[in-house]
Amino acid sequence: MPENVVIIGSGPAGWSAAIYAARASLNPLVFEGTVKPEMIPLGQLAFTTEVENYPGFPFGNVRAFVESAVDKDRHWNLPPAPDHKRDGVHHYAVQGVELMELMKQQALNFDTRVMEEDIIDVDFDSSPMRVIPANGEPIETHTIIIATGARANYLGLDSEDAYKNKGVSACAVCDGALPLFHGKSLAVIGGGDSAVEEATYLANLQSASKVYLIHRRDQLRASKIMQERALNHPKIEMKWNREVEEVLGDGNLVTGLKLKSTVGEPTEELQVGGMFVAIGHTPNTSFLKGKLEMNEKGYIQWSKAFRTNTSQQGVFAAGDVADDYYRQAITSAGTGCMAALDVERFLAEHGH
Ligand code: NDP
Repeated sequence: MPENVVIIGSGPAGWSAAIYAARASLNPLVFEGTVKPEMIPLGQLAFTTEVENYPGFPFGNVRAFVESAVDKDRHWNLPPAPDHKRDGVHHYAVQGVELMELMKQQALNFDTRVMEEDIIDVDFDSSPMRVIPANGEPIETHTIIIATGARANYLGLDSEDAYKNKGVSACAVCDGALPLFHGKSLAVIGGGDSAVEEATYLANLQSASKVYLIHRRDQLRASKIMQERALNHPKIEMKWNREVEEVLGDGNLVTGLKLKSTVGEPTEELQVGGMFVAIGHTPNTSFLKGKLEMNEKGYIQWSKAFRTNTSQQGVFAAGDVADDYYRQAITSAGTGCMAALDVERFLAEHGH
């Protein structure tokens, strides 16, 4: 028997789609992915510390709740609780992995089936359609929800890798207000709208003392209005024609950056407590090339306004894989819900 719906991806979009599909008795099958860069179990939130902007999770004794909700055999996957305490108990905003484990648990509670597998190919021409796992037999299915997300681009330095979550981040909106960055000078890398927006966001935080915007050329790519906002901001200083050569740290946290010049000036060191990389994202769509309509950056294109339909009948897309603009956990979860509702209606209309 073909599946009703196969969900590819296990970030907020994938789990939200699974929760809705499962509660509609569609018995969804989720391909969670393995640890390849394209199919990261639990999505990008697996790399995030506290998520302070996910509605419904204010600071609190999150740990007790997470441990009470998530099956014991997955507690090993939970990161240590941050050290902030109030009245002797942990008091913090939900961490990325905790939030994803909660969503996964919610999907499991309604009998979602999960496979720890990557999907490496799809066959949309056969009827029913087929998804092809890396190891194992092709699976037949009436509908598919693509929720494979997008991954933030990094500079690719070893020192950058060593300080991820210790001062290196790819999301100022997610991480900028964390106590780790309070009272420190911060750096944003990039020259597009994201970089300029992130620099302005950070500079507007009371907790940031100064923000350096580091760009490899002498002209920003960002829109004029956003440029002006950043260039006129009293707390933002431009570092033109500079690239990060090395992230400096004390072994525990970022303490500075070594910047090389792209126009032959001497190398300099900058004291900062955080580096926010904003040099674009790459959608996880390489296994779909030529099979679905995508924009020039490889993001899946929705074929109807305010619907999650794609160019292929029965294939829906949710989350960052179809969104190069908002890219928030909450927006991904929202479109995951939409995709499941779209699937439910599609199946009903096609008599499945
Ligand atoms: P962009 O691709 O527009 O910009 C990426 C920036 O990163 C460029 O300035 C690029 O430099 C720089 N860069 C790329 N690779 C490297 C590298 N290895 N080292 C150093 N610098 C590097 O991506 P964005 O994420 O900024 O924007 C994506 C899309 O989202 C755009 O269409 C943008 O307009 C939109 N957006 C809109 C916003 C808004 O309107 N509020 C907010 C955020 C994004 P170079 O310029 O030299 O190529």
